[in-house]
Amino acid sequence: MTEREPGFLGVEGTVHPIVQVGDPVLSTRCAEVTEFDEKLHQLLADMFASMYAADGVGLAANQIGVGLRVFVYDCPDADQVFHRGVMINPTLVPPAERHLDSDEEGCLSVRHQFHPLARPDTATVTGFDHTGAPIAASGDGLLARCLQHEYDHLEGMLYIDRLSARARKKVLKAWAEEHQAL
Ligand code: ZN
Repeated sequence: MTEREPGFLGVEGTVHPIVQVGDPVLSTRCAEVTEFDEKLHQLLADMFASMYAADGVGLAANQIGVGLRVFVYDCPDADQVFHRGVMINPTLVPPAERHLDSDEEGCLSVRHQFHPLARPDTATVTGFDHTGAPIAASGDGLLARCLQHEYDHLEGMLYIDRLSARARKKVLKAWAEEHQAL
C-alpha cells in the first residue's frame, strides 16, 4: 500500500468538507484548467488531504466546491496494487473491447450510500499532470471504476445519475434520512 501522504509536492493540504448531492457545483460541467501554477498545486494538496480525511479512493475538485477539471486518486487495481495520481483536463478513452463489471459503487458526495452499477472493467484516461505535461492513466478493478467515476464528476454527473430512476430515488431517500439525522 502506498504512503498516504496528505500533501502534494511538499505542499501541505487543508481538509475541506465534501460537498453533498443537491449542490449545483456537482451537476455543472467543470471548467478547463489554464494555469498550472502554485494555486493549482495548493488545490491538489487540499484535494489529497480532503480525500484521505474522508477515507476515499478518489476525489474531484467540484467535491470540495472548485469547478475545475481536476481529480486525484489513490486507489487499488484488480491486483490490489494502489495507484496514486492527479489528472487535469482529462479525456476518457473508450475501451477497445467493452466488458462490463457490475459492482457496488459509492461516492463521498452521496455519503455512506452504495448501489451496484455496471461499468466497463478497464479504463484509460489521458490528460495533464501538475506541470501541464501530458499523462495517461489506466487500470482495472476498482481503479477502472474510480477513473470513470471521477471523470463523470467533472462532466457534472454522479454515479446515481447512471442508475434507474427507481434505484436513484432509493439511494437519495436513504441519503436524505441519514443526512437529516446528522
Ligand atoms: Zn464521487
